[in-house]
Amino acid sequence: MNDYLYDVARRLVAFDTVSAKSDRDAMEYIAGELAPQGFKTALQPVELFGVSQANLVAWVGPPRADGLIISGHVDVVPFDGQPGWERDPLKLEVVDGRIYGRGTTDMKGFIAECLDAARTLDSARLKRPLVFVFTASEEVGCQGAHLVAPALKQILGETPVPGLAWIGEPTSWGVSHAHKSIVSFGVTVRGIGGHSGAPARGVNAIAVMARVIETIGRYQRELAARRPAEYAEIFPDAPHDVLNFGTVHGGIALNMIAEECKLRISYRTLPDADPLDVYREIGHRLEALDGHDYAGREHRAKIETALMNVVPPLDSPRGTALEAALFDVTGAKTSGGALYATDGGWFTGSGITSLICGPGDLEQAHQPNEFVRRDAFERGTAMITKVVERLCCAG
Ligand SMILES: [Zn+2]
Repeated sequence: MNDYLYDVARRLVAFDTVSAKSDRDAMEYIAGELAPQGFKTALQPVELFGVSQANLVAWVGPPRADGLIISGHVDVVPFDGQPGWERDPLKLEVVDGRIYGRGTTDMKGFIAECLDAARTLDSARLKRPLVFVFTASEEVGCQGAHLVAPALKQILGETPVPGLAWIGEPTSWGVSHAHKSIVSFGVTVRGIGGHSGAPARGVNAIAVMARVIETIGRYQRELAARRPAEYAEIFPDAPHDVLNFGTVHGGIALNMIAEECKLRISYRTLPDADPLDVYREIGHRLEALDGHDYAGREHRAKIETALMNVVPPLDSPRGTALEAALFDVTGAKTSGGALYATDGGWFTGSGITSLICGPGDLEQAHQPNEFVRRDAFERGTAMITKVVERLCCAG
């Protein structure tokens, strides 16, 4: 057993970095491990959810072009109130072939491997820079990456921003070069309240929301019918835009006309279109909607939409040097699409081509009793070392 690797993983899991909490202690710990290895480190302070957080950029090697970014998010999804936990989510536990703890798969395990690889790196051999980018609040819309990606040029100073990024999200060491966008928005229906004995004097927001849901549902079916051939293989589960009704809340009491109803929706679009096209189309269709309820014709409800968050899609070009190196070290023969969005969507906007490849298993991500397989975890350090050797030291 590699003591340092396990020690770092244990320390990382112990920091409670649920997305809405501060990740600063964890980031300072990581920076403190990398600085003695010759890395320059910069914490980018970011205010998210009213909490002071930080992204961390750490880099080493000569200020040449064609370096490599290796990236991961430090936040984790919540565990408080999640049914099914039989262990302490913040305590790393190794049992048989599994390492348990929140974030072991998604994705502190990979970050531990990064630090382990950095510890044995001979930085004098680097011909091109190695840049670690560790982000905040990925699980709630890739908020940290949205802020750090455009700031990299300034943070890195004389070191050119690398054009390639390896993001160690859970893929069971498969390789993904694409994912859909994710967009979330809310719909609020405002009716007119009153006594349920005289329904025609008001307008029931829940009843009008039913029309809203029907309208959006029909559009969802249209979206599923558009299946561009090029995405059939990359997204075999759903080679089309997908939409999910997330939550709906409305009304106060049985004998009151519901005055307000709120719906929250997220959808994911193929990388070939503007992610906001669907939102705009839904807006047009809701404008044309009948705002009456089923009780009267006198009053109409108001229907408002509000965009919540957008994460751009990823559609990285194939055949990069990073792809070849990842195929080599993982044994993967091809690259596919991920079911989730990543920080890579924001990196694209800063001219960085991202690939997703990590030790965790998607089945374990966000689950109670989250674990990473020991064999998958322990392979990581050598893989990172080899990829860095090939992209940053050779030639
Ligand atoms: Zn993740």
